[in-house]
Order: sequence, then C-alpha cells, then structure tokens
Amino acid sequence: MTIKTIQGTHDILPGDVELWQRIENATRRIFPRYGFAEIRTPIFEWTELFSRGIGVATDIVQKEMYSLPGSKGRSMTLRPEGTAPVVRSYLQHKLGHSGKIERLYYIGQMFRHERPQKGRYRQFHQIGAEVIGSESPAMEAEVLHMLTRLLSELGLDDFRIVVNSVGDTHCRPNYLEILQRSLKPLIGDFCNQCQSRTKTNPLRILDCKVTTCQELIKKLPKLSDSLCDDCITHHQELLSWLDEYGIDYHLDETLVRGLDYYIRTTFEIITDQLGPTQNALLGGGRYDGLSELLGGPRAPGYGFALGLERLVLLLSGRDNLKTKYTSPRPQIFLAHLDDGALRYCVNLAAELRDQGIHVLVDYEGRSLKSQMKLSNRLGSDVTCVIGETEITSGRLVLRRMRDGKEIPAEISKTGKTLLELIS
Ligand code: AMP
Repeated sequence: MTIKTIQGTHDILPGDVELWQRIENATRRIFPRYGFAEIRTPIFEWTELFSRGIGVATDIVQKEMYSLPGSKGRSMTLRPEGTAPVVRSYLQHKLGHSGKIERLYYIGQMFRHERPQKGRYRQFHQIGAEVIGSESPAMEAEVLHMLTRLLSELGLDDFRIVVNSVGDTHCRPNYLEILQRSLKPLIGDFCNQCQSRTKTNPLRILDCKVTTCQELIKKLPKLSDSLCDDCITHHQELLSWLDEYGIDYHLDETLVRGLDYYIRTTFEIITDQLGPTQNALLGGGRYDGLSELLGGPRAPGYGFALGLERLVLLLSGRDNLKTKYTSPRPQIFLAHLDDGALRYCVNLAAELRDQGIHVLVDYEGRSLKSQMKLSNRLGSDVTCVIGETEITSGRLVLRRMRDGKEIPAEISKTGKTLLELIS
C-alpha cells in the first residue's frame, strides 16, 4: 500500500500553488501600505503559551492541540493560532518598548485536531495581522478597510462584515452571571455541547449553530444590554469610523468567537458560498489583556486571522482563476551525441541558466532520436544538438521548434542568439 497524506492535511500541487501565491503576493503588497511588517514565529511553542493565552476552557486548548513532550518533560505544542506567538515575540524582543505601535502580519501553517470536513482541516494556513499598542476604534476600522482591499484585489465582493462587542473585564462577568441564571431553566433543551459549555465557556453558547439552540438563544438576555459605558462608547466609535471608511457592516449580538482573549470588538467576514457551518472566511477582535496573561506589561492588541484554505476554495471556483497545470517549458533543450558531449552540455546549461534561461538536458541515456522527441513533447522553444564537431568548432546550430528554422550561433553567444531567435 502506498503512503498517503494524514487525514486533515493536504498537498498543494503545482497548478494550485499559483493561486496561493497570488493571495500571498497580494497580502505582501497591500498590508505594508497600512504599516504592517511581516513576522515569522516558530511552528511549535511551549504549550503554556496557548493554554494561558487562548484560555484553558476553549475548544482549542481542551481538545485540539497537537502537543508533544519537550526537554525536561515540558510540553510543546504545534501552534494552533498565530496571535499568542506574535504577542510572545513582541514581548520577548521588546518590540513596543518606546511606546511604538507595532503592526505585524504573518502567513503560515496552523494545527488543530478537529474533525476534518470541507473548509476545516488539521493542518491549515492562516494570514493574520496584529496591531499591538493601540486602543483606538479608528485603527480597528482601518484594519477592516485593509481586509476589504485585500479581498477586492482578489476579486471577492460577495462577503459580509459582521461586528459585535463582547464587553470587557468590567461588564462581562456581570453578563455571565445573568446568562447563567437565564440558562438554568432552559439548558436541558440545548445540545450536548452547549450543556457542557455552561460550566466551561457559557458565552460560546451564543454562537452555537444548532438550529434548536438558535431558537433558544433568542430567549436569552442580550449581551449589548449589559455593556458598560466605556464599551458602548468604543463600539459606537468603531461603527462611526466604519461609516467614515464607507464599509458596510452587520451587527450580530451572537458573535462571540472561540478564543477567550477577546474583549470589546469581535468581527468576522462571512460568505454564503462556504456553507452554513464553515461560513467564516476570517475572524478577529480586540485582546487588550493578552500581553498581561503572558506575563508582559499592558499592551492592548487587535487583530484577525484569515483561513487560506477557505479563501482558496472560494476563489478556485471561479473560472477565470482556474489554471491548468503544465510543467514549465524549456527555452532550450540541449541534446547530446555521446558522453563527452553530455559533459559539455552540462557546463553550457549552467552558463545559460546563470543568464536566466530555462534549459533542460537529458541524463537518461536516450538516443538522439528519443531526445528530439522528448524536446518536442516538452514544448521546448529551441533544440540544439551537441557533438564532437560543435565542441571543436565552437559553433552550434539552434533549431526553432515551431517552424524548424535553423540558425548558427557561436557557443559563447548561445544565450544572446537564442533570445533573438525566440523573441
Ligand atoms: P480562528 O483562529 O479560530 O479565529 O479562525 C480564523 C479563521 O481561520 C477562520 O475563519 C477560518 O477561515 C480559518 N480556520 C480556523 N480553523 C480552521 C481549520 N481547522 N481549517 C481550515 N481553516 C480554519
């Protein structure tokens, strides 16, 4: 039996990679316009970074982390998300030490032991951005503006931006108490997951996608009715900055997100084209307390993570973006008559490649006839046969494959003559 990929992981093959590169290139073009610099953090970190940062009661920490023993039994974990590592790095390298606002973005793999399904994998990729050191709602709107620019550059316009405020450490505990009280008489009718969340993470009940739960959620007290004045002002300011930017948004009181560190603003960009359960293309929010949770000073933060697999799924459905994979075509195929000529070809190929030319040489011992056939099959622009005569005279014949036109070339000027012939 041949070995296949592990469930929940996937190869990205030539022909598909181009779309990934397009997205990554657009990100690298657009994000720096908003002041973001790229950061790369390790694939694995100490486990407590995530248990402290994301929260022990979250699904990720409870059941989705790939952990392994590190030195002296200290546990390490394949990163399930990028925000905690970025904040760890920010603190470790004192990036914000002069009060500077840091804007950082990343592109990379994440790992979560989830049930694989369409749009949900165990190894997946995220593009994320974090602003550390700012509490401003205007900056929050600016990040959303950056996202709309990225998506429209990629040709996506059928998405919805959904925003909410989940309160802060002053008003949320109060809401949680009210929520727990209201849940008591109803909880028996909620799904099993919601029932266990009453003990671990009751806020997450609000975004349960089970239809019967959604009906019950409508009967629960609203989070917005418990927000403190500061949270209300912050939320109103965000909305007015979104208006200023001309960004359309929808308010959704049930948008609480799966990570514990969010306070005040949470948001998602969703699309109907991904199906009802995996409809979030990206999500994010404000996490002002995360730095302190990781042992650092106060450093308010705000960011998002976008799922690349979901974006690729959306974009690859579009005909104009489908690329059929074809191996790169050689500009010149150097055919050889014998072993001595092969050695000559190898050196000439190296020189031509240094000039930026795409060259292929055959090492499989094919006859000249088979080499010519191969060159034809690969779609080479030009074929050149090298034997004793060419080597001693220092002169070659370049044969243009599309019309059979042949022209002589001095070996030392092969690259120049080739480019003239195929231009
Ligand atoms: P989160 O880090 O959970 O806030 O998720 C942010 C985004 O990452 C989601 O909106 C998805 O697009 C993507 N994402 C999260 N988990 C997965 C997964 N298991 N497979 C693929 N994409 C994911």
